[in-house]
Amino acid sequence: MFDVAIVGLGPVGALLANLLGQAGLQVIALERDTGIHPLPRAVHFDGEVMRIFQSAGLADRIAAAARPSSKGMHFLSPDGRTLMIRRGREGPGPQGWVSNWYFHQPLLEQVLRDGLGRFPNVQCRLGTEVVALDETKDHVTLHLQPDAGPVQAHYVVGCDGARSLVRRAIGSRQQDLGLHQPWLVVDLLVDQNSKRARELPDFTIQLCDPMRPMTVVYVGGDRHRWEIMLMPGDDPARMTEPEIFWPMLARWLGPEDAVIERSAVYTFHSVIAEGWRRDRLLLAGDSCHQTPPFLGQGMCAGMRDAANLAWKLDLICRGLADDALLDTYESERRPHVQTFIDLAVKLGAVIQATDPEAARERDRRFASGAPEMFDYPQPALGPGAHRDGRLFPQPRLADGRLLDEAVGNRFAVLGRASSPPGMVAIEKPGPEISAWLTARDAIAVVLRPDRYIFGVARDQEALAKLTRALPSAPKSTVT
Ligand SMILES: Cc1cc2nc3c(=O)[nH]c(=O)nc-3n(C[C@H](O)[C@H](O)[C@H](O)COP(=O)(O)OP(=O)(O)OC[C@H]3O[C@@H](n4cnc5c(N)ncnc54)[C@H](O)[C@@H]3O)c2cc1C
Repeated sequence: MFDVAIVGLGPVGALLANLLGQAGLQVIALERDTGIHPLPRAVHFDGEVMRIFQSAGLADRIAAAARPSSKGMHFLSPDGRTLMIRRGREGPGPQGWVSNWYFHQPLLEQVLRDGLGRFPNVQCRLGTEVVALDETKDHVTLHLQPDAGPVQAHYVVGCDGARSLVRRAIGSRQQDLGLHQPWLVVDLLVDQNSKRARELPDFTIQLCDPMRPMTVVYVGGDRHRWEIMLMPGDDPARMTEPEIFWPMLARWLGPEDAVIERSAVYTFHSVIAEGWRRDRLLLAGDSCHQTPPFLGQGMCAGMRDAANLAWKLDLICRGLADDALLDTYESERRPHVQTFIDLAVKLGAVIQATDPEAARERDRRFASGAPEMFDYPQPALGPGAHRDGRLFPQPRLADGRLLDEAVGNRFAVLGRASSPPGMVAIEKPGPEISAWLTARDAIAVVLRPDRYIFGVARDQEALAKLTRALPSAPKSTVT
């Protein structure tokens, strides 16, 4: 009997398997395909996701396979004027890492899968489709194809993507957030000897051209990505043909400047499931939410799901917390991911405007002053296992270590307070955390294992109250 069966070994399933493997749980991951999904999809993740990779012990390997970026995302009018900018940032951001990273999804997935080799307690079965689930009071039986006998687990997490079998088994309703639009995605490997290729922008462009909206991304190395909106009259079946799309790239490159790596048509969706858990079945990643990629946040949201679920499943499977803790998963994560999807849909309305007069009006409105600057949203978690729910930053401590290196994947108290028994406590947390506490008139902050704030205490009594309310008492060390 496994503690957890993960259905689907895409990026979200692979990260969750790493986090649960590291926690020491008995895990089986079942993946229908024999290899990593070869088509181009995600190219960007943010500093919070890098921090999650850090918690899985994989940050260095992933940093070596990804490109850090200090540049933002520029929204341009058809004549090249900057309308809006999603801010970039030099150097490490609040999460202790560079805030934006670009990568090739199959490479990232390979690093995540290789990471599983560290854990004899994690079994992976590739080329194995889960075809049915039977739930009883204390476990779930998974039926597989090809049939090598059923597998049993206490919990099943469906990381099985947009057409999730586990979602259907739960019977979740899909809430439609309004945007569904086909786009062509083309990855090119450019010739470094080409002058035009060397002049390509090293920041992301959203070209808000009503005749042909387009996204241009420098992925890293020789790889550049074009995402091209399909217009009325386009034949989706022919869009991936080079003679159809090369003319659309003419202002940047021609066939003499690059080779085509891959091209595919996707329909971008904005949907969110209601019902991420039923009893022993759970969902994470695209199985419970999909966003258009205008913020580069779809996979990122799935990675946050995995980080939220991992510590809860760990405590429950080790008998340290009640199974009701899993009810806080959807209540915390759904409003959080919806904030990102709502913003991506709003940006979609700017990028995808195809009425020339409406687009001109938009350009006049934006271009009347300096470009509008914005950042990623930073929503707090919805109601759940906390009294606060904001993400705590990751500064360096007085001894030079990053906060999470000192704390480990556990609850922690940071502050000047005398530490309650049984807690990981950092009593001399360094100037940045001291300033954070002073600004809030607090003596201590209690962090969850996923680094979201459990609560902020103004005095010893408030701290004692907070620690009594924790879902479980963690092991102790004082640093
Ligand atoms: C063009 C494009 C650009 C994008 N850009 C970004 C970006 O820049 N940043 C970002 O964060 N996100 C981006 N995304 C979104 C991102 O690619 C997805 O959110 C992410 O791949 C979802 O990961 P997942 O693990 O949840 O699902 P998937 O990657 O879909 O993996 C699901 C896995 O489950 C397996 N599976 C399914 N059913 C079964 C079954 N019954 N039994 C066994 N296995 C099963 C599948 O074979 C698959 O391997 C983009 C998406 C697209 C299309």
